[in-house]
Amino acid sequence: MSKRHFDYLVLGLGGAGSAALYHLARRGLHVAGLDRFPIAHDRGSSHGHTRLIRQSYFEHPSYVPLVQRAFELWEQVSEDHGRDVYYETGIIEAGPQEGELVPGVLASAAEHGLEVEHFTREQAAQRWPQFSFAPEHSVVYEQRAGFLLVEQCVSAHVELAQWAGAETFCDQSITSIESGSEAVRVNTTRGAFTADRVVVTLGTWARELLPELSQQLTVLRKPLHWFDADESQYSRKSGCPSFLFETEAGHYYGFPASDWRGLKVARHTGGDLVQDPLTVDRTLDLEERDDVHRFLKKYLPCVTDTPTDHTVCMYTMSPDGHFIIDQCEDDPRIVYAAGLSGHGFKFTSALGEVLADMATDTKSPFDLSLFQRSRLKN
Ligand SMILES: Cc1cc2nc3c(=O)[nH]c(=O)nc-3n(C[C@H](O)[C@H](O)[C@H](O)COP(=O)(O)OP(=O)(O)OC[C@H]3O[C@@H](n4cnc5c(N)ncnc54)[C@H](O)[C@@H]3O)c2cc1C
Repeated sequence: MSKRHFDYLVLGLGGAGSAALYHLARRGLHVAGLDRFPIAHDRGSSHGHTRLIRQSYFEHPSYVPLVQRAFELWEQVSEDHGRDVYYETGIIEAGPQEGELVPGVLASAAEHGLEVEHFTREQAAQRWPQFSFAPEHSVVYEQRAGFLLVEQCVSAHVELAQWAGAETFCDQSITSIESGSEAVRVNTTRGAFTADRVVVTLGTWARELLPELSQQLTVLRKPLHWFDADESQYSRKSGCPSFLFETEAGHYYGFPASDWRGLKVARHTGGDLVQDPLTVDRTLDLEERDDVHRFLKKYLPCVTDTPTDHTVCMYTMSPDGHFIIDQCEDDPRIVYAAGLSGHGFKFTSALGEVLADMATDTKSPFDLSLFQRSRLKN
């Protein structure tokens, strides 16, 4: 066999791909991963220091078993790698009673028997005086929630995979995927690889290399901003939780301040369409910064006016905001996870396991029907 033939290839080593590589390697399989950028880079969707992880999933109760498995696996990653990647802060989720967020959280919690506390606006303002809430808001608090250190999660998965025998090639762009009769051929700017099975986790670039997704995915530009904040009120050590708000202007979220960069805040809804993710505009847009600053002034009023940092990331949206996890219609040897729609990182530890199961014809214990491509129109 050629040195460039592997039993399994993982295309794209960001959030989902790093985890898939790890889960295939830890099963003792002959696997390699390919990427065009160095591990834990800042050109795709898995950078910017932190990602929220929360359990009572307002988007749909079907995600709950998967996120519970993700929590277990993140703990295992921390233990096996010897470095914590998850920090529990609890989360407050504030929004109108008849909105999307609070009823969605309560429905997921009820369906899965999860522990959450539900507060009126006045009760919440008493418990968290560093926040304020709109008259129409009620607030749900969930203790089992917090943040993941996003770049460290990716590099930990890749290193664990390498320790288990996986090979990685991070200096070549994949240009096409061809179904051959004997093997799947993956062409790159530095030559071709072949494999019996291929896992595709290309994030914002999936639509370019998987024709069946070309009409399904759109890419959005998403800025992140940091502001200086008083640590006695807004740091994790002072007990400040992570937060997600449904407001008239959209959904906003953020994380307690870290000692070196301040408090991170972003808008979950909205975002400009990106035609070419390689040339997305990464410059600071003052209007976007003013937008999150207005949110802070209203709901976290004691955060300072001093910006400390910003970066730009991208969401890859499916038409309905749910993930697309499937086998290729024309070649079931190729499996993929795509369209993680701005909320996928927390799941990637579990998605890696799901993809490894799919690629090895192992029945997944999870109900994945919500994620099948056939739910979407062509
Ligand atoms: C600002 C922002 C905030 C977010 N907040 C949260 C959050 O709080 N909680 C949460 O759960 N999720 C969140 N998300 C979503 C989450 O981060 C993404 O869903 C997830 O990181 C996507 O992972 P991925 O593996 O699909 O893509 P990526 O991590 O981008 O990986 C794709 C990889 O494929 C490689 N690649 C692509 N094309 C090629 C090619 N042709 N050749 C070689 N390599 C290629 C890329 O270089 C990249 O490394 C957020 C996303 C953003 C942008």
